[in-house]
Order: sequence, then structure tokens, then C-alpha cells
Amino acid sequence: MARTLFTNAKIFDGTSTAAAEGQVVVEDGRITEVGSGLDGDTVIDLRGRTLLPGLFDCHTHVMVSHVNMFALLQTPFSMAFYEAERNLRSTLAAGITSVRDAGGADLGVKTAVDTGMIAGPRMQISLSMLSQTGGHGDDWMPSGAHLPLFAVHPGRPATIVDGPEEMRRKVRELIRMGADVIKVATSGGVLSPRDDPRHAHFTPEELAVLVETAAGLGRFVMAHAQATDGIKNAIRAGIRSIEHGIFLDDEAIDLMLGNGTFLVPTLVAPNGVIKAAEAGAAIPEASVRKAREVVEIHRDAFARAVAAGVKVAMGTDSGVTPHGENLDELALMATGGMKPWEVLQATTRVAAECLGVEADRGTIAEGKRADLVVLSGDPFDFVGFRDRVAAVYLDGKLVVGGV
Ligand SMILES: [Zn+2]
Repeated sequence: MARTLFTNAKIFDGTSTAAAEGQVVVEDGRITEVGSGLDGDTVIDLRGRTLLPGLFDCHTHVMVSHVNMFALLQTPFSMAFYEAERNLRSTLAAGITSVRDAGGADLGVKTAVDTGMIAGPRMQISLSMLSQTGGHGDDWMPSGAHLPLFAVHPGRPATIVDGPEEMRRKVRELIRMGADVIKVATSGGVLSPRDDPRHAHFTPEELAVLVETAAGLGRFVMAHAQATDGIKNAIRAGIRSIEHGIFLDDEAIDLMLGNGTFLVPTLVAPNGVIKAAEAGAAIPEASVRKAREVVEIHRDAFARAVAAGVKVAMGTDSGVTPHGENLDELALMATGGMKPWEVLQATTRVAAECLGVEADRGTIAEGKRADLVVLSGDPFDFVGFRDRVAAVYLDGKLVVGGV
């Protein structure tokens, strides 16, 4: 079997606190050896650059290209599929080899990537977000118009549910149509005009049925959770990750520590809404006001969670912000108090754990899939990080750039 040797590299393996000199051997798409004094049939000289595990983004919307509501209404339904091709390509070019799509992408998009028809990161998909009537995913506008951000189609079922029985049926329906993970809104949100991010949504009874049904079919649940009580209800129900976590209080942080719940902060998202509005995008005024109100609260909550030792997995809400700029999140995570190596661990090993794929990827270690990123310059300097991604490998095959 052909051995590819990556040599003359500094290796950040996803577990350590520094990048160390080393070599990596890849055979048949897997890492087979990590060490020194190794040999190979093909030698790739990284000339002192850093080799990282393929990066993760645990919260993307690859079918969303912007949040300009008026422009979205003028866009033909199927355009979003073609846009997804472009968005996935820019995400991969940033060194992101795995994403968890938090709503929008369906099984066709994922299959197109899996079969190599289009370039993109490996995907876990949720199809659409479960929401209560009047919740964050309910697309009825105050005018009485119904304006779905994601039009319902056979591969992306409607997901407004009320009551445990509807919840159970809908989770099964999502899984039937290809959902790898179930997304739920346990609180209001920013981009929807009529709900409040400080209100909890769904009852503990509804959430218990959700988690039980998903777990029985081998799926984790991710919760859009901004309100304090919505966060606590989600954690107590056994939900895997809290997305955004804007109104985290100390009790919620303690509950996360006790339950091993992941936080996917998406720090770039509220600013993305504000920036888009300032650039002239048609976004409901109420949404822009909510985004402004939560930016500081969000940053403060994140810093307290980090200081307490909550497990953080990198996620951006890309789609709200431009695809390909995902790694802007890293600098904000560092500003919020994470050490540079913790930021990179959150974007590799910890993210893989959040998605339940840690046996397969997320670190540079024997047996792991050879999804790799070559980075020029200091891996702990997050300024211009994306521009220093020199090469990206999937299963040991060069898919972006080159060295
Ligand atoms: Zn989102």
C-alpha cells in the first residue's frame, strides 16, 4: 500500500498545548503512523508549516447565503441548492472538513458531497429546526404573510410542533428524510420578528420525548437556546449542545458542567446581523434591535462559561455571516478568554466529540481519517488565519491549495 509521508512539519494534534516537530504517514486515507524517522513512497515536505486536524464548524447553514429578507423572497426556490455548492466549496477552502448543518441542507446536498459530485466538508444535517407555534422557526409574519426562510419540500418537512405526540412523530419523520442530528429551538431568537430570545420554548415534557425519540434512533439533539430557562430545560432534558447560549447564568453553567453539555457559541452571528443591516440588507427592525441588545450579553456569558470550564465546540451560524469567513470566530473565542490551543482544540477534537465522531476524526493520531490542514505562520495567531490555510486534505487526498 502506498505510504504518503508528511515531513518537516510542526504538528498540532488536537490534544496538545503546542505544535511539535514530527512526521505523519497516511495510507489508504487513514493516518497510520505519527512520529519521527518515518519513511514513505511519496514525500510531502511541509517546510516548517503546521499540520492540523481538519477543522470543524458545528453550526452552519450552507443553504443560506445572506439574511436579506427581501432578496430571499425574490430568489428562485432551487437557487439555494446551487448556492450551497458555492458555500460548501468556500467552507472547505477555509480548512473546514466537517460541518454540522443547523438547518436548510437536505439529504441530496449531503449525498452530492459524499459521492464527490460537489466539493465540500463532511456533513451532519438536521434538515429543519423543531419549533413551537410562534417560536423561532415559525415563519408567520405580523402582517399575516407566511414567509418561510426554508420552503417545505419532501426532503425538508415542516417542523412546527406542539405537544409530545407531535414531537415524537416529527422527530421520526426528520430521521426518515435523512436527519443525522435533531435541531430544536428551546427559546426565541433574534432573526424571527415576533418571539423573544428571553422566553423558553417547549415544555420539559415535550423536550423529554424529543430526546428519548432521537436517542432511541442514535441521534443527538442540538438546541438553539438563548433564554436562561430555555437553556436549562435543554440541558436537563439531556440535549447534547447549547447553540448561542446568550443568557447563560451561573446555574446554567453548573448544569452544563454536570451534564457534560457542549456550548457552541456562534459569537460572530449577532454582529453579522448588525453588519448586514448596516450594509442595507432588508432585515426586520425588531431583529436588528434584538441583535444589538444581545451582543455584549452574549460575550459576557461566553467568557463566564469559558472561565468555569464548559466544553466549547466551534460553531459560527455561517449563512448569517458569509461562508468561508468561519474562522473569524477563532479570534472572538480567544478574546473571550480561551487559550489559543483551547480554541484550536474546540475547532478539532472537542468539536468531533460534540458530533460523536471522535473515533474517526478530530485529532492527528494513528487510525484517524487523514483530513488534514496545512497552515503557514503561527497557528496560535488568529489574525488572517484563513488566508494562511495553504492546503486541505480529505482522506489523505489534496482538495484545496498545495505545498
Ligand atoms: Zn443557526
